[in-house]
Amino acid sequence: SDETKIHWDKAPCRFCGTGCSVLVGTQAGRVIATQADPEAEVNRGLNCIKGYFLSKIMYGADRLTTPLLRMKDGKYHKEGDFQPVSWDQAFDIMAEKWKAALKAKGPTSVGMFGSGQWTVMEGYAASKMMKAGFRSNNIDPNARHCMASAVVGFMRAFNMDEPMGCYDDFEHADAFVLWGSNMAEMHPILWTRITDRRLSHPHVKVNVLSTYYHRSFELADNGMIFHPQTDLAIANFIANYIIENDAVNWDFVNKHTHFKRADTDIGYGLRDDDPLQKAAAHPNSGVMHDMTFEEYKKSVAEYTLEKTVEMSGVEKDKLLELAKYYADPETKVMSLWTMGMNQHTRGVWMNNLVYNIHLLTGKISQPGNSPFSLTGQPSACGTAREVGTFAHRLPADLVVTNPKHRATAEKIWKLPEGTIPPKPGFHAVQQDRMLRDGVLNAYWVMCNNNMQAGPNINKERLPGYRSPDNFIVCSDPYPTATAQSADLVLPTAMWVEKEGAYGNAERRTQAWYQQVAAPGEAKSDLWQIMEFSKRFKMEEVWDEALLNSMPEYKGKTMYDVLFRNGQVDQFPLEQAQALNDDAKAQGYYVQKGLFEEYASFGRGHGHDLAPYDDYHKARGLRWPVVDGQETRWRYAEGSDPYVPEGKGFYFYGQPDGKANIIFAPYEQPPEVPDEEYDMWLCTGRVLEHWHTGTMTRRVPELYKAVPDAVCYIHPDDAQKRNLRRGDEVILSSRRGEVRCRVDTRGRNRPPVGLVFVPFFDARVLINKLVLDATDPLSKQTDYKKCPIKIRKA
Ligand code: SF4
Repeated sequence: SDETKIHWDKAPCRFCGTGCSVLVGTQAGRVIATQADPEAEVNRGLNCIKGYFLSKIMYGADRLTTPLLRMKDGKYHKEGDFQPVSWDQAFDIMAEKWKAALKAKGPTSVGMFGSGQWTVMEGYAASKMMKAGFRSNNIDPNARHCMASAVVGFMRAFNMDEPMGCYDDFEHADAFVLWGSNMAEMHPILWTRITDRRLSHPHVKVNVLSTYYHRSFELADNGMIFHPQTDLAIANFIANYIIENDAVNWDFVNKHTHFKRADTDIGYGLRDDDPLQKAAAHPNSGVMHDMTFEEYKKSVAEYTLEKTVEMSGVEKDKLLELAKYYADPETKVMSLWTMGMNQHTRGVWMNNLVYNIHLLTGKISQPGNSPFSLTGQPSACGTAREVGTFAHRLPADLVVTNPKHRATAEKIWKLPEGTIPPKPGFHAVQQDRMLRDGVLNAYWVMCNNNMQAGPNINKERLPGYRSPDNFIVCSDPYPTATAQSADLVLPTAMWVEKEGAYGNAERRTQAWYQQVAAPGEAKSDLWQIMEFSKRFKMEEVWDEALLNSMPEYKGKTMYDVLFRNGQVDQFPLEQAQALNDDAKAQGYYVQKGLFEEYASFGRGHGHDLAPYDDYHKARGLRWPVVDGQETRWRYAEGSDPYVPEGKGFYFYGQPDGKANIIFAPYEQPPEVPDEEYDMWLCTGRVLEHWHTGTMTRRVPELYKAVPDAVCYIHPDDAQKRNLRRGDEVILSSRRGEVRCRVDTRGRNRPPVGLVFVPFFDARVLINKLVLDATDPLSKQTDYKKCPIKIRKA
């Protein structure tokens, strides 16, 4: 019977940016199994340990099934206890608080914090609701903590976001260089492809750069431990080596590049009154100045081998070996990075310094020659970046600061001219500061757990959430630290409980159908956004002048204008798969409508997506997809349809088709260890848990595999403090303290002077200790280095 039959369908994995495809087995309305998809190009029949247990992430005992509101004496109270309420009650209080904030202080008093875990359609709907409906650019994704430096790096060099290469590069490269990335644990399936290439081709070499030893070093031919922040010096040394050894690819450089210099007096993205800020951000901090090759040569000449050895602590022979792979014209090099490079007060510069090396040697946009920025979330690219959920962005690389870009969006969205505000909204770190300062008062968090993932939680995050002036809503499947800090918690459908699409790190867009119903009254983020938008008449969100320029919108709801207008509702319900709850609720195929409208931004502009239905048939397609063909190497003739014949390479994001080689120097971080706070702290992830562990810690097998976060410390540092493996310690920074146990022999082995603590464990809120200094260009926080001290508990 149907009850006993297992139905199999495909979906991308819910976790990392690798974008593995899985087959999902459902029976009697429940996901009962998953298996790696043998047809998928990305993972070729393999999943990592997290992927193998995907079937259990939805069935934690404490899954939220009803909205919960803090109440006292039958009504909302900031200090009340959470009590179940209906969706109507939830939206009533929410709309009341939003309307009060809008009336008192205008659009900048409302905000939203989303995620690269939103589906493409959810991120698109949220961004449209905020930027066009509420006319507030105060929406940002948690990708700000993850990918923002990569985005700005791409934009400065190529004026187009996302990698030019693809995963096929793994099977072509002769040398791999991991710039501060632990792929063995964070991108394990991609690591199997590197491992396969390395072990089956003896000439292939693996170089790993990090501030501590981790599992990726097990495959490394050339493992290098560098002092925090000195990756800036190492990258400049390699550029210097290439020039000194006459290894510049002049044909490529002359035809396809310009030399630029970055502004340097740019501060650390801290509050202006923070003594660590030192330099106030230069008003033109994003500006780049032209420079000649001779000037560039002189600038990198400072980074000699001797000086770089001294600064970085990496042995001379290892640095030379690394530089030679890049300089040798016969060696195809793939550079890979994620958080080690992006979570950095000079993350943008660091991204550009690596592009510099590839551009100087012409090792780019060819099979195996590939500077490759990896992503951490399943749709960091597809949703956060491509859809434009950042506070300064619109879909397909458009930005709110550009009047032409705003006009394009307003035309597609059928809005009067001047609807979208021209000023970027508050970015992730600023949002929390503005909540704390009482500037932002109504705030909706979806699909992330910032109260565990954010930096400096006690001083900058929690006070804003618990301020009586603010109303905080958190949508989540589970009672996370963020949900527990909110005023209203909305139960959310997850993964295959809804239809959606994600975009992975290699520009591959993948879609899936809804396969089971969500439990209780849990609803998708998309449904929540659309139902909430029904609570606002246009008169309540737009001023009179704007509304007068579009009188047909008078008396309509925000939902009518944004989601039942133009392209969105043109696909009838019958086109949706039967179990599509969101489509049934709206009465039309909402996911397809939103996807197609969003896709119209990029078609013909280098971001072409295929028709939506194609994604249900394929195991994903890499954009630009033109005439049914996906693109593997962008900017390269013969592979990218946008490159004119005879050009060879063409960086068409730039007006003259030339990429920028951008010099930036080494600069020290805002805070460095001193006599009192004498160790570096680096925070990050482990293989078994995904980010804050909200899902993976509810899978018994994964929980038991790694139940607690521990502090990995060098045996000499432990001995100095009279600590033995398993002892409880107190770690403290200027911002707070946490307790955990030490491990001197685990999978992570820091050098003397540094400890590594993962952030998946809600009982060890390690990010409390992290300084909320950001890269001033990308606004991304540096989680990889701050001074702490350790004592026995
Ligand atoms: Fe693949 Fe990442 Fe999922 Fe593991 S967590 S199965 S590597 S997508």
